[in-house]
Amino acid sequence: MPQIIDGKKISQDIKDELKLKVETLKKQGKPPTLAVIQVGQDPASTVYVGNKKKACEYIGINSLAFELSEETTQDELIKLVNELNDRADVNGILVQLPLPKHLDESIIINTIDPKKDVDGFHPISVGNLSIGQPGFVSCTPAGIIELLKRSNIEIDGKECVVVGRSNIVGKPMALLLLRENGTVTICHSKTKDLKEVTRRADILVVAIGKPNFITKEYVKDGAVIIDVGIHRNQVNKLCGDVDYLDVFDTVSAITPVPGGVGPMTIAMLMNNCVNAVDCF
Ligand code: NDP
Repeated sequence: MPQIIDGKKISQDIKDELKLKVETLKKQGKPPTLAVIQVGQDPASTVYVGNKKKACEYIGINSLAFELSEETTQDELIKLVNELNDRADVNGILVQLPLPKHLDESIIINTIDPKKDVDGFHPISVGNLSIGQPGFVSCTPAGIIELLKRSNIEIDGKECVVVGRSNIVGKPMALLLLRENGTVTICHSKTKDLKEVTRRADILVVAIGKPNFITKEYVKDGAVIIDVGIHRNQVNKLCGDVDYLDVFDTVSAITPVPGGVGPMTIAMLMNNCVNAVDCF
């Protein structure tokens, strides 16, 4: 029976640790504050923003909500971000993505002060990660490293394969595994003979956005599988990019969906907000 990596428990442990840190920060007169900007009313974004607010409440982080109309212009949004950049009482700024089509996400992200970039999406944060300098790291891949470490899964010297090269998951994931001394390969839609590459992996991280794509033919005996994908299947049940039941008997450890990577993303966002107080 493989080790089931319990993201729910690990994320709860992290939130409880952060709660204690926040108590100390408050005693020192440095209460962390996160500003969350949502433009429009995309239902999925509203759920994510609500979950972030709840996590802030639990940990004791102040949260400021800016709910802007769908018609907000780029200049108006930039003005708000700049105001928040200038506010000494705001430590973290998060602009919920995706933004409505008329707004340029990269211009908005670049406007956020890198010292308040708790999502870790600013080019300066990404640059710091790539050259091994301290800085904010994208929350989902940072959460995966915590999952591995807290499950006592060694990364040092391991063959690590990341399937997916998005800016928010695949690329930072590969850099973090490299930072932990993994031997890292990144695959994407143009990779030739994907199975041949994924079967080399001691640690296989899958972030491709295709339900149940990875079956046991892609997996080496005893591999550790981290499934980032999240989908609803035909019967409205949550599933990942990995066919969990199919690979189950082949692997040594695996993250379930739900309850694996998902809960870690918010926990690591909270971690970034707390770190933002005495910013890197
Ligand atoms: P993107 O769609 O941005 O990236 C998908 C990546 O997968 C691309 O690099 C693409 O390659 C690659 N890919 C697609 N098809 C194949 C294939 N057949 N073989 C090999 N590679 C392939 O997705 P994200 O990184 O944003 O997200 C991935 C998944 O993770 C989604 O299901 C998303 O919902 C989930 N997710 C979950 C989070 C959580 O908190 N649990 C957080 C973020 C995402 P190419 O670059 O060549 O197109």
